[in-house]
Amino acid sequence: MTIAEKLREKGLRPRKALGQNFLHDQRIARTIAEAAAPTRDTSVLEIGPGLGALTVPLLALASRVVALEKDPGLAAILREERSDELGTGQLTLLEGDATRVDWLPLLEGSPGPWVVAGNLPYSVTGLLLERVTTVARRIERAVFMLQVEVAERLAAAPDTENYGALTVFVQAAFAVKRLLNVGSGAFYPRPEVGSAVVVLTPHATPRAEETAAFRAVVRAAFGQRRKTLRNAWRGLFGWSDDELREAAEAARIPLDARGETLSVEDFARLAALAPTAHA
Ligand code: SAM
Repeated sequence: MTIAEKLREKGLRPRKALGQNFLHDQRIARTIAEAAAPTRDTSVLEIGPGLGALTVPLLALASRVVALEKDPGLAAILREERSDELGTGQLTLLEGDATRVDWLPLLEGSPGPWVVAGNLPYSVTGLLLERVTTVARRIERAVFMLQVEVAERLAAAPDTENYGALTVFVQAAFAVKRLLNVGSGAFYPRPEVGSAVVVLTPHATPRAEETAAFRAVVRAAFGQRRKTLRNAWRGLFGWSDDELREAAEAARIPLDARGETLSVEDFARLAALAPTAHA
């Protein structure tokens, strides 16, 4: 049965607001599963299992899959189809919003190593990437299908067009590797944008502590592109112009540069000088 037929049978339609583009290319699903669970002992948190395109090959390779799905209609279908694995406890299917739920407790109690995987709903990719940084210390890797433009932003180098706040936040915690590009034909319905699979591997030591101050420094620097840092950071942390100049000097950052030119470590050095109320 095709995906369209399966949905129709249940009186469902792909919901654009939930980023529902279902993967029907099984070869690509297997490649993602192999990257996510290279060893049999892996436990996987899958974000947005949908109709199980990725869940099924993950179950063939991993010791445990915890799947978190927002759409109760899709969860009901998956529950019906994967009753065996649900029965043995190899699969746990949870209904909830992955942008709101705390991810760590979901893997707690599963044997390690832990991995997060998903063919992400493109509408909330940014929020989900923020979430994955919160579990970077506990997971072996994250394997995500996302929009090709986002993959380019994640892997961007300083002083290039795609380098931005998202790049810095993700690269602070992870090394980013692009695994493969996926054309729209691999999905039903076809998304309007190209897709790519990325592998995020946590750094042994994060390149920056993702504190509130770090986030504020990065967001302000990219808030108005093409502005000098002197203007972009004016008033940051309640600093006067003189205080900003002193902090930038101590962090060895030229204020007439633009945010796009700074490395993750540059941002971290300035953030470390924030008054404690902002740290
Ligand atoms: N994994 C399936 C596949 O590969 O065919 C579905 C992928 S589809 C791109 C994204 C999935 O994420 C859908 O099943 C959608 O309902 C689900 N989803 C959307 N927003 C979500 C959220 N905030 N939390 C959890 N799941 C979500």
